[in-house]
Amino acid sequence: MQGGTGLTGEELVRRIQESSERRQRIIDAVCGACENKCCRQMTMMGGQDLRRLLRGMLLDEEFEGRVRRGLYRVADRLETDLRVVQQVTDLLAASQDEADASDLAALRGNVRDWADFVAWLRTDFDLRLDELRRLLVFSAIRSNTLNALARFRGGLGALVNLSGDDAGFRFHGRRIAPPPCLFYLDDIGCICNDAKPAKCANFFCAGVPNLLEELRRELSFDDFVLANIGIAPTDRIIAMMRLERRLGPEFVDPKIVVGAADQDIEEIAAAMGRAGESVRLKRIDRPGMRSAAEVEQELAGIPDRTGIVEVYPAIDGNTLYELALALDRIRLRDEHPSFVLIARELVPTPAAHPLWDDQMMAQPLGALDLFAIEPPR
Ligand code: SF4
Ligand code: SF4
Repeated sequence: MQGGTGLTGEELVRRIQESSERRQRIIDAVCGACENKCCRQMTMMGGQDLRRLLRGMLLDEEFEGRVRRGLYRVADRLETDLRVVQQVTDLLAASQDEADASDLAALRGNVRDWADFVAWLRTDFDLRLDELRRLLVFSAIRSNTLNALARFRGGLGALVNLSGDDAGFRFHGRRIAPPPCLFYLDDIGCICNDAKPAKCANFFCAGVPNLLEELRRELSFDDFVLANIGIAPTDRIIAMMRLERRLGPEFVDPKIVVGAADQDIEEIAAAMGRAGESVRLKRIDRPGMRSAAEVEQELAGIPDRTGIVEVYPAIDGNTLYELALALDRIRLRDEHPSFVLIARELVPTPAAHPLWDDQMMAQPLGALDLFAIEPPR
């Protein structure tokens, strides 16, 4: 952000799009070169992340369709693996003596769990958190199955031998290599889009080449900040806030909105009021950076059923980064303050945040609900 003037409106949107495209080109080049190491080694999806996924699916039918279609294809992949497990189970049943009967019964139980999971993936399951939680049980089903097979001499070897090119069982040392993330498809990558888990959204990267190193090398700090801002009309931000409050307090996530005009501010505050919150609208004349610890303290003191809207004339990337650190820690504690920070403009950062240059394994900002208002056409 050169020139000292703040970004807003169409100029802000254009700069975000440019930076996002540059970031995406770097991701495509680097993540391809490391062969998508993180997505090929189990999932990073946790219980909290499922709320983000559920919210995204409820908010956007097209996205819901993408996830469901992706999961049907994951079901096909898991069924291919299951067929191999069943083949090995049948071979073991034919060749083992009675002493193995209880191990065999346990293995058959695991096979049934696996088959039930595949069948569930293919259903039009309800969009409820308790349903989506089933997505997290597959890693235990798979691991229980492999443990059950390992109790038979040659069980895992037979699994790998019968796996061929289609099924996904390979040795990694003496163990079976981890499966790809449940949400990963070879041709399209992650099926979760912007609703991916916080760790993934924050580019947790231990790969070589390293995505974060490349992002630091190729993008300025301000461009990195811009690339992490989503573009949304005010209506969509309000729809998201209303949905969160309808789903329950544990779904409410702080929001940061830049490029907002008076009307946007009023509509956002009014939406919180209509959701039954007592809204405190604070207008702060001078932008001032607060430490992550100060932000955490302030948000911890928000009374129940109260929403805070803080309006600043401008904000810079450094302040957003520090805020992101605080909000990330709040997220990890599973706290859900009703807090919206609104800035009319995004201004250039005088100096990059010190943690931007550190050898961090992850960068905050990706998992924030950080939006620029899309101007009406
Ligand atoms: S984020 Fe890192 S580990 Fe994951 S695919 Fe990209 S470069 Fe590889
Ligand atoms: S959730 Fe998506 S980005 Fe994260 S590991 Fe899985 S496929 Fe990769």
